[in-house]
Amino acid sequence: MSTFSIIGGGIAGASIAYHLAKSNHNVTVYDRSDKGQATTASAGIICPWISQRRNKKWYRLVTEGARYYPDFIQELEMKTKQSTDYRRNGAICLFKDDHIQQLAFERISAKQEVSPEMGDVRKMSKAEVKEMHPHLTDYYPAVYVEGGGQISGKSLLNALKEAILFHGGKWINQDISPTSCDGKVIYTAGAWAGEYSSNPIVRHQRAELLHLKINGSTPAKQTPVVMGLGPMYIVETGSNQYAIGTTHEDTEDFSITPSLENQQYLHGEAERYFPDVVLDDQFMSVGLRPFTRDSLPYIGYSEDGVFVVNGLGSTGLTCGPVIGREVAAYLNGEETILNLKDYAY
Ligand SMILES: Cc1cc2nc3c(=O)[nH]c(=O)nc-3n(C[C@H](O)[C@H](O)[C@H](O)COP(=O)(O)OP(=O)(O)OC[C@H]3O[C@@H](n4cnc5c(N)ncnc54)[C@H](O)[C@@H]3O)c2cc1C
Repeated sequence: MSTFSIIGGGIAGASIAYHLAKSNHNVTVYDRSDKGQATTASAGIICPWISQRRNKKWYRLVTEGARYYPDFIQELEMKTKQSTDYRRNGAICLFKDDHIQQLAFERISAKQEVSPEMGDVRKMSKAEVKEMHPHLTDYYPAVYVEGGGQISGKSLLNALKEAILFHGGKWINQDISPTSCDGKVIYTAGAWAGEYSSNPIVRHQRAELLHLKINGSTPAKQTPVVMGLGPMYIVETGSNQYAIGTTHEDTEDFSITPSLENQQYLHGEAERYFPDVVLDDQFMSVGLRPFTRDSLPYIGYSEDGVFVVNGLGSTGLTCGPVIGREVAAYLNGEETILNLKDYAY
């Protein structure tokens, strides 16, 4: 049994701590709940197969992440008796026209053989889109991916914290430096990593989501995640409540004050996807997404012997749990499924 101090209680730190605590190590998580923590701000979409990104190391990580989710959640919820709000209602991916829809269908369905967990993949007519998601526009054809899902970052963190305590670990709300911790140190400080070290360099993006309510309309039954055109997506957050995002703003600033300009932009986008209903803005949420130099997560030792996990970027909720599993296996001297050397330099 070893002693581990984990700095940062976002998805990276909490997942690693959970898996290490499950292996009977002495684990303490230190978290100072910075405003802008990416995990609680996240939209929580788990649907990596539709991405057009070609980086193979990234794709291996996120698809292994999506594959692990159902078992991971089942065990976590059973252990803690807490809901993570994880659900797999599928994903509706909208496309500009029938030609692009056909190309996307071919590209996405080609991945089914190696990723059977993505479930059924099928083209949807505009009428079928409307039938599945009555609030949504019927202007665009779509591809439906049955295995697409979503989770609440906040509920997931609550459950992980409970499970860490269940396994004898500790969670301390405190600002701490790697030099003042006991045992082996794991540094998962997200966007704030540069306060201690610039190895690896972590930069961040400010991302904003607009939370809306649909007024005066019958609530739709649980709706799938909607992947709109370009980087836009919509997730359901409650009965007739949705969040739309996101903005991408490279910045060195840590401020999380929402911008009126972005709110207006996102409201305009929401009206485009939900044209027939009255939309009431509720609030804006802002998070700081951490990136490394090659936009791949960094997983490995820094020069001073601290184990660093950071740069989970825009898919950290998808790959966080599997990173936790793999890092714990690696630190236990066990075989890992992913080659962690792919993520260190
Ligand atoms: C708006 C938005 C939408 C997103 N949507 C998705 C999505 O749909 N799907 C998906 O897979 N991913 C999504 N992501 C990405 C995902 O949320 C992030 O990649 C992930 O949450 C990063 O986790 P992290 O643990 O590295 O960092 P964080 O969650 O930011 O956690 C870092 C923690 O470290 C703490 N900390 C820092 N320094 C110290 C210190 N010295 N002492 C104590 N504590 C410290 C901070 O307070 C913070 O709590 C989204 C992100 C954003 C912002």
